[in-house]
Amino acid sequence: MNTDTKPILVIGAGVAGMTAALETAELGYNVILVEKEAFLGGRVLRTHRYFPKMCPPACGFEINTRRMRQNPRITVHTLSTVEGISGRAGHFDVRIKKRPRYVTGSHTLDDSILAQLKSERSNDYNFGMDKTKAVYLPLDMAYPPVHMLDREALSEDDADTLLKACPPGAVDLNMSEDEIEIEVGAIIVATGWRPYDASKLDNLGYGRCRNVITNVMMERMAARDGPTGGEIVRPSDGKKACNVAFVQCAGSRDENHLPYCSAVCCMASMKQARYVREKNENSRATIFYIDIRAVGRHEKFYYDMLEDSNVSFIKGKVAEINEDPAGNNLILDVEDTLMKKTLHQGFDLVVLATGIAPNTADVPIPFDLKYDDYGFIDGSAGVEGIYAAGCAKRPCDVSKAVKDAMSASIKAIQRLDKGE
Ligand SMILES: Cc1cc2nc3c(=O)[nH]c(=O)nc-3n(C[C@H](O)[C@H](O)[C@H](O)COP(=O)(O)OP(=O)(O)OC[C@H]3O[C@@H](n4cnc5c(N)ncnc54)[C@H](O)[C@@H]3O)c2cc1C
Repeated sequence: MNTDTKPILVIGAGVAGMTAALETAELGYNVILVEKEAFLGGRVLRTHRYFPKMCPPACGFEINTRRMRQNPRITVHTLSTVEGISGRAGHFDVRIKKRPRYVTGSHTLDDSILAQLKSERSNDYNFGMDKTKAVYLPLDMAYPPVHMLDREALSEDDADTLLKACPPGAVDLNMSEDEIEIEVGAIIVATGWRPYDASKLDNLGYGRCRNVITNVMMERMAARDGPTGGEIVRPSDGKKACNVAFVQCAGSRDENHLPYCSAVCCMASMKQARYVREKNENSRATIFYIDIRAVGRHEKFYYDMLEDSNVSFIKGKVAEINEDPAGNNLILDVEDTLMKKTLHQGFDLVVLATGIAPNTADVPIPFDLKYDDYGFIDGSAGVEGIYAAGCAKRPCDVSKAVKDAMSASIKAIQRLDKGE
């Protein structure tokens, strides 16, 4: 252990970034963890439950936040992005931009204060399926547990109401953007993924048909703290969805969209078919697939799903989705390649298994790193002292992201110990 070294910077605080930060700090090294959102946890937090054990995401997350609270070696910057990096392994100069939260965290804002506000905003945490007040806690178990204020959404009247209702110093409407500069010895990039934009899949009806949603929206719908209180419903009329289709490879393995396999979508859809079945005993789920990719210990999950007679697997790529004239039911056109017949089948909800695109494809790290053709960071990032982990590297599930983060942590520590 060498406690006199420079800190290690971890960019992104999803499961990979949090793991890398914790493992590094618990070995006695200082860590600076930079997260662009107002809270830590990344995409896994937005799942209802996660495979293969179907645990709620709160389980692992609570353990990690407890470890984090107990470790003074980790400095967390939320609402922050890395704007500039220069230098070399052993000595990188890094510029970090911090967006204002407007809520200082010095006092807890209770519900009676928020109830006085009228201004609302679209809830991006739930993919716009509901709204929050302009001052909001992004999720119940947010870490840090501090509210956030959407300055653009807050009306002037509500700004006055808020200032009168809050204890002095709790809210600072004049808070501005800030920049800090730090020196670090090594960097771990764990910036993760975003869902592929489903509106680019014209034939599959997203945005055109109200009851076509994406797999990430399904996770929020199934969650008790989600926009429907955990009910899986048709957006068109709020009725329970009883006959649900899952369309695999919506974008993935398609030269016109994401030519690669997104690795987790088959498991995610089977998991979501289980949500459908558990929430309503008479429900049906149909999975349209090219081939099912459930390897290793995930294979058992697939075999268990095959046992359920209300779950069907149909091998065939969906060609088109349209609404029936009433607008509540959806008609899928698909060629069943095993039965060698064309199907024209009706459903009340369709879930597109949209794939995983790297955040670095949209916002690259401000240093000359090596990316693959799709914007994922090549394993070693091509630069000594900078290492990638989790979905920043390639699509992967939680267990792979965690292992990856541990190995990035070891590589960063080894590099740090060499000195400048
Ligand atoms: C529909 C669906 C369901 C899934 N369900 C499961 C499941 O049940 N079980 C399972 O094992 N896996 C599941 N996965 C996969 C799982 O989501 C990933 O394995 C996991 O999110 C990878 O974590 P990560 O930390 O690499 O990335 P992320 O979760 O994407 O975290 C990245 C973090 O970096 C932050 N960030 C991004 N850019 C920047 C930047 N420039 N500066 C600072 N911060 C930044 C982000 O805000 C985020 O907090 C599912 C995937 C999908 C699509």
